[in-house]
Amino acid sequence: MKGEARPWTCRAGVDTCTRTAPCPACRGARNRRKGKRGQGQNRRVLETVFDAHARWAGDLANEETARHLPVRYENKAGRTGGANTIATHYLKAEAQAEAARAVGDLRPFVFTVSPDGWSDGLIVLRISRLKAILEAFAG
Ligand SMILES: [Zn+2]
Repeated sequence: MKGEARPWTCRAGVDTCTRTAPCPACRGARNRRKGKRGQGQNRRVLETVFDAHARWAGDLANEETARHLPVRYENKAGRTGGANTIATHYLKAEAQAEAARAVGDLRPFVFTVSPDGWSDGLIVLRISRLKAILEAFAG
C-alpha cells in the first residue's frame, strides 16, 4: 500500500510526530534529504555534460566542495529556496515561447529575467537541455 511501506519513527521522540505532520526536527531532516537529492541529481547532470569526475567522495559532499566541476553552483530545492517559484515562472515563459515558436525552429529555449534595479540579468534553463544550449552558445 502506498505510503505504508515503512512505519514512521520520530528520531526526536515526539509523540505527535507523524509522516504527514512531522515535528520540526523531522521536517528539517526531511528537507535536508530532499535538498541533497535534488543537488545530487543536478550535480550528476553537470558531471556528464562537462565530463567531470569526482576524485574522491569529499568532492560530492556539497556544492562548496564540488571542485571537479568547471562551475561553482548552489542548489535550492522546494519552496524556501525559491525553486518552486522560479520553476512556475519558467514554465509559463517556456509555454509562451513554445506557442510563438516558428515551425522548424529547433533552437533550445532559455528564460531570461530582468529584475528591477539590475543592470545585469539572469538566465534560467533546463538542466536536461544544458548540453544543447552550450552547443548553441558555442555556435
Ligand atoms: Zn519527529
